[in-house]
Amino acid sequence: MRLKQLITFAVIAVSIYSCKEDKTTEIDFENEEVNNVVEEKKLEFGFDINDYIVQRDTIKSGDSFGEIMQRNNIGYPNIFKIAEVTKDTFDIRKLHPGRPYTLLYSKASAQDSLPSPETFIYQPNQEEYVVIGLKDSIHAYTSRKPITYVEKTATGVIESSISKTLEEKGLSQRLAYKMADEIYAWTIDFRRLQKGDRFKVIYTDKYIDDTIYAGIQDVKAAYFEHNGDSLYAFQYETDSIKGIVDYFNEDAKNLRRAFLKAPVQFSRISSRYNLKRRIAVYGYKVRAHRGTDFAAPIGTPIMATASGTVIESTRRGGNGKYVKIRHNDTYTTQYLHMSKRLVQKGDFVKQGDIIGKVGMTGNTGGPHVCYRFWKNGVQVDPFKQKLPEAKPISDSLKVEFLDHIKPIKQRLDNIFFLEADPIHEENTITEDLNTDIQ
Ligand SMILES: [Zn+2]
Repeated sequence: MRLKQLITFAVIAVSIYSCKEDKTTEIDFENEEVNNVVEEKKLEFGFDINDYIVQRDTIKSGDSFGEIMQRNNIGYPNIFKIAEVTKDTFDIRKLHPGRPYTLLYSKASAQDSLPSPETFIYQPNQEEYVVIGLKDSIHAYTSRKPITYVEKTATGVIESSISKTLEEKGLSQRLAYKMADEIYAWTIDFRRLQKGDRFKVIYTDKYIDDTIYAGIQDVKAAYFEHNGDSLYAFQYETDSIKGIVDYFNEDAKNLRRAFLKAPVQFSRISSRYNLKRRIAVYGYKVRAHRGTDFAAPIGTPIMATASGTVIESTRRGGNGKYVKIRHNDTYTTQYLHMSKRLVQKGDFVKQGDIIGKVGMTGNTGGPHVCYRFWKNGVQVDPFKQKLPEAKPISDSLKVEFLDHIKPIKQRLDNIFFLEADPIHEENTITEDLNTDIQ
C-alpha cells in the first residue's frame, strides 16, 4: 500500500467485465454549443493524443536513442543537447530492446519535408513512462500510469486440487499460492486437501490504466473449509512503520507460526517422521525415521524455520554437512545432507534466512534435506505439534482489529457457494465471481 498517494484506490464491487466498460462522457445534446465540441479528449501519458500524429514502436536490439532521433530527423547537435539536459532524470543509454516507445508529432509538422517529433515517450515497464520534450524547452520527467485496484470475490469447491479448481473457474493461480504459502501455510496442508473442501476469498486485482490486468495484488480476507473445520483469515497491518502485515483469525490469533512449515520452498515431502518405518535397504526391519525429508534439487536454498542461534555447523558421518539451530529453551532444529553450509556456529539467524543449500552429503539416496525437530530434547514430528503462534496481536490493537474485521466477516459470510457444483458446469466464470453485497 506504499503507492497509496499515487493511485486511486477504487473499491468497486463488480464482476470481472465491468472494469473494462468504456467510460462514456455524458453530453447534453440539447445544448448546441456542447454539441459542437463533441470530439472526446483521448488522454495518454498526460497528452491529448488527438492533438498529435502518433508513432508507436518498440526498441530494437542495437537501437540507441541517437539512432531513433536521427531516423526521425533530429540531428546530432540536438541529440547531445537533449542527452545533457535530461541526464538527471533519465539516462538515454538505458533503453531496453522490446520496450515500447511513442513519438508525438505536431499536426502541423505533416507539412514539413523532414518532420521531427516534439516528444519522445519511453516505457521502461508497464507502469512507468519517461517523457522527453525534444523541442524548444528540452525537458524530461518520469511519470506513472494510473493504477486501479478492483476488489473482487470468488468461491471454489475442491474436486481434486486447488489449482485445478482455480483453472476451471478462470481464476489466477496466484490465489492458490497466496492461500497455500502465505495465509494457510501453517494451518492447512494443501497437498492433503479433500474433495469437497471449499473456500471464499475477497481479493484485489490490479489494473494499469484501467485496462491492463496486472495480477492479484492482495488477499484481504479468506475463509477455508477443510476437513470440517472453518478457518477464517483476515489481513491486518500490525506495524504501519515497518509495514508488517499478517493474517489473523476471527479471534485475533495469528495464523502464522513461530516456525515455517518447511525449510525449503516448492519441495515435496519424500519421507515423513515415522517411528515404525521399514525400508528395503535395511531388509524391511524397523528403522525409525525421526526427521522429515523434503526432496528438492541440489542447490535449493534451505531456510531456518525459526529465528535462533547456530549451535552446530559441521560435517559428520551419515548426516553429511548439517546445521543445527537452537531457538529457545524448548525448540531446536537440524538440517542434514547439505551441499553447502552458509552459517557458522554462533551465528544468529532469523526465520527464513538461508543457512545452506540442498545436497546429498552423508547417507542419502537422493538430494533432499532431512529436517529434524526437537522439543525439550526429544525428536518429534513438527507436523503433529501445536507450534507457538508468531507475534500475537497486542491487546491494544485487538479491539481495533475486531472492529475492523466485523464488516469484512459479514461480507464473507454473505457470499454463498453455488448450490450446483460449479465445477461440472461450463461457462460459469462470471457467475462464480460473486458480486459483492455492500
Ligand atoms: Zn531424513
